[in-house]
Amino acid sequence: MRTPTIEWQVAGACNYDCSYCIQSKKYRRGRPAEEQISSALRFFGELPGVWEIKCSGGEAFAHPLFMQRIVPGLMSDTPHRISVLTNFSADREDLERFAGLVHGRLVVFSASLHLEFAEVDLFVEKASWFVGLLEPSVRFVVNQVVIPGEESVALQCKQRIEAAGLRWFPQLFKTKEGVAEYSDEVALRSVIGEAPGPREANLAPNYQGRMCWSGVEYFTVDKDGDAWSCRSAKRKGKGHLGNIYRGDFRLNAEPAPCPWSICPCTVPANRGMIEGVSSSIAAVEE
Ligand code: SF4
Ligand code: SF4
Repeated sequence: MRTPTIEWQVAGACNYDCSYCIQSKKYRRGRPAEEQISSALRFFGELPGVWEIKCSGGEAFAHPLFMQRIVPGLMSDTPHRISVLTNFSADREDLERFAGLVHGRLVVFSASLHLEFAEVDLFVEKASWFVGLLEPSVRFVVNQVVIPGEESVALQCKQRIEAAGLRWFPQLFKTKEGVAEYSDEVALRSVIGEAPGPREANLAPNYQGRMCWSGVEYFTVDKDGDAWSCRSAKRKGKGHLGNIYRGDFRLNAEPAPCPWSICPCTVPANRGMIEGVSSSIAAVEE
């Protein structure tokens, strides 16, 4: 079953500066201004059907208007459901308010653990507290990049997080060319398992040739309002669907075979957009 989904980059800027960040410093900046947010909310409000809008960044909560305007506006001006990808640096006051605002509409809360800026025990303690504020139906998951050569560190975090009853989701280290080399296959498999699917890990697989509904029932919106059929398409400067601030957005009418050799994000796969890749919203991780 396909779950219509939009990934909205509500901020380019981030309050962290991770050495392995796939977004270069040059592009990790900028935030939509209030009038652009109003245009986006209008656009989402007029979009037919109910979509899952996944807010990402940069860092969503570091945008001062995220809690003031974006989240309240999505709740009051649109019928859509909300997910969020965050580095979980927001303070408890904001997190508590967020949980209250999105009650009944939150799908996935992805908290990324970045050890260059966060300490695992404090992170786990805060996560356990936060999960207690959410309805049981909300999927809370801890994402972590597995750094090549540091698989044992990731394994320790996984064990610590899972011991607290939380879900841990590994991401392979991505580079501009694809996925980084892992010289120690045994160490890597000890962390991600033998044959993980898109619900168990983000391995950035190749789905070239498979029918894909990206651009039809899934798209991304960047901080400048430009909409793209998927991240790979955007990287190649293809699949532009228009700009949601300007109002010239158009969805594609039909799915098409994937032309790309890497699918860097598990969202389209886990929302049922890709032929032959089974999905279940109940198991969506990221
Ligand atoms: S928290 Fe995420 S967006 Fe921010 S610097 Fe780290 S990896 Fe990049
Ligand atoms: S890269 Fe992924 S989301 Fe993009 S067209 Fe291919 S399968 Fe679809």
